[in-house]
Parts: sequence; structure tokens; C-alpha cells
Amino acid sequence: MHQKDIIRVMQKIRAPMYSSHIYSKDKSDKENMPGFYYEERTWHGKPYIMPLNELKTRPCSWFSAGGGCVTCGYQLIADLSGVYNQKDMLKQTEWVINKYNPEKYPFINFTSAGSLLDEKEIPFKTIEKIFGMLRDAGYKALNFESRPEYLIDRTKLEIVRSYFDEVSVGIGLESKNDFIRNFCLNKGTKLEIYVEALQTAQECDLITDAYVLVGKPFLNMKEDVRDAVETSRFAIENNVDTIIIMVTNLQPYTLTKFMYDKGMYELAKLWLPLEVLRVIVPEHNKVVIKGLIRSSPQPIEFASTCEECFSYVIDSIVFWNLTKDFEHIRNLPDCRCKQDWYMFFNSTEVREQDRLEKDIKNQYHQIEELLDTSS
Ligand code: SF4
Ligand SMILES: [Zn+2]
Repeated sequence: MHQKDIIRVMQKIRAPMYSSHIYSKDKSDKENMPGFYYEERTWHGKPYIMPLNELKTRPCSWFSAGGGCVTCGYQLIADLSGVYNQKDMLKQTEWVINKYNPEKYPFINFTSAGSLLDEKEIPFKTIEKIFGMLRDAGYKALNFESRPEYLIDRTKLEIVRSYFDEVSVGIGLESKNDFIRNFCLNKGTKLEIYVEALQTAQECDLITDAYVLVGKPFLNMKEDVRDAVETSRFAIENNVDTIIIMVTNLQPYTLTKFMYDKGMYELAKLWLPLEVLRVIVPEHNKVVIKGLIRSSPQPIEFASTCEECFSYVIDSIVFWNLTKDFEHIRNLPDCRCKQDWYMFFNSTEVREQDRLEKDIKNQYHQIEELLDTSS
């Protein structure tokens, strides 16, 4: 099996999106709103509630070319018609400026439903206009997201950096293992491009954050934890500022949703990212867990624990994200569901790479057969 076989599967999974009108673009089209929500984090060592805004641009190039990453629902925000209108981009920017007072929110996330520096989504000339508007409105620090291949143009990065006192970029590394990243997640990237992107961005004085995915399909819980820990260590070695442990949620028109419906995939329990946190925090304390109860677009389902401890677990993670005080995690009640999870975790075997690859390839064949019989 090759990457092109995974792409073929992903394109079959995505096909209904082009004829579907379930995505919420009608409402936001009328009001010229980007996707938005708030997220708790720290900024300069203090708790900070950051507004996140996702411009509705043309879709991510990797989604158009390769079906996109297997868990990603961002295209429900993007404009799948592929029509681009600069006026719409500027109106969405005005909406952001009117919504968040820069004195209260000097640091904002402003990105696209893909990669902000991908010219196929939005021309760089428009980005410069938008950044000028945001700077003139009074925002001091900006965070955006991008695939690594758009972060190796030094000239562009220097221009981006010049608009604000501080610029940070979140990069979807997800896994340091090329096979897992490309075969389990269809990311379509090689590890060396991340190294180059991180170095270039850091040399241009950008702060770099790395997303590390947990709840990956095809892996068992122990393989998933091990991969997330190794990936976090790789990010630390490459001087990232913040490791963002992203917990997979369930989005429509994704491979994970298809597998979930067929009983081939379950969302992770929140004990899984907490186990990654437990291992990695003594090595690097700038770790946050994201994707818990808020996401844009709104998913069908989030990862959870049992009903008895769920609100305690969510609160503890949110308080950790805001304070970096590990007592919030250490003091979690020792719920029965946690004991069960650890019992299962401790008895789970990590497969050798050869065996893992064989199993994953077999599962893809099975998925493709199911897709062909259901179409
Ligand atoms: S995760 Fe990012 S790169 Fe992957 S399909 Fe979604 S927007 Fe594109
Ligand atoms: Zn519980």
C-alpha cells in the first residue's frame, strides 16, 4: 500500500461533502463571520483567554489534492466552492476587530481553516492588508496555524513578523513517525520539512508551537501514548515553545467517523492525554491539552471519561492549561473508570513496526471494500 491508496480512500470519504449543505457556511456567509471560539492558556506566564478566529478562505490545498488528514473537519468552515473574494476576507477581519477589544485581548489567534500562508487559500497580498488592519486596530501579538511547507520562505516570515510585537505559529506535527503520520493520519508530509520549518521560523524570530495528536486511529492506547511522548520529545529537541496535545474529536466526513460507524474506531478516554502529560511535564512544562469541550467546527462527539468524573477531569485540565500547576492533575479523584483504563493500558502490547504496518494496510483494504459496497 502506498500514500496514493490512502488518498483514494480519503477522496471517497470526502466526496459527499461537495454535494452536502449541512455545513454552517450560510449563516456565517451572511454575517461575514469567521469560525470562532475562546481557549484558555497562559501568555507571558499568566492565565489568558485567547480568542481564536478561523477565516473562511478557499479550502486547504492538502484537502483538495489529497483528501486531507483523516480526522480533520476544517473544511466545514472553508468555502468549498473555491471562489475567492478579497472583500469577504476583509469583512471577516472587520468582524474580528469589532468583536475583540485589543486592550482586553492584545493577543489573538487569527488563522484560516488550513494554513494562513498557503497562497491557494488566500493570497499573501491580502494577508498583508489584513495584518495591517489588525496592527492598526491595536493587537500586539498574533498566533496563526500553518503546514510546514509554507514556513520555509524566509522573506514572507520576516514580513509577517514585522507587523506585531510577537508572532507565534502552530504547526501540525501530530507524530514524529513518518509511517504513522502519513498512513494513520494521511498528513502527506516528511519529518525533514518540519525540522526545516521550525528552524526557519525560529531564525525569523517566530515562536513555534507543535500540535501532537492523540486518539489516532489504527493505534492501540499504548502505541498512541508512546508515539505522543516520542513526538513531544522530538518537539522539545527542536525548541518548540508549546506542545499542544490535541485530543481527536469526531467530525463528519472523516475517516475516523466512518471507522467509528463501522465499529473500527473509538474516541480516546481523557486518561490517555493525561498519561502523556504525566510523562512529559517533568521534561517540559509548556504543554496544553486541547480539543476537550470546544472546537470549531463543532464536532459530533468529544473524548470523555465516565459521567461521574467527567466534569472534574475537564476542570482539572482547564485549570492546568491556565496555571501550569500540576496539583490540579495530581488531585483528580481516583475514579473507577481511571483504574479500568490503566488496567487495560498496562496489559496492552505495543506491536513491532512490521506487524503494525501489516495490520494497518489490512484495515485500509477492509475500509475500501466497505466504502465500495456502501456507495
Ligand atoms: S489538518 Fe490541516 S493540513 Fe490536514 S486537512 Fe486539515 S487543514 Fe489541511
Ligand atoms: Zn470516571
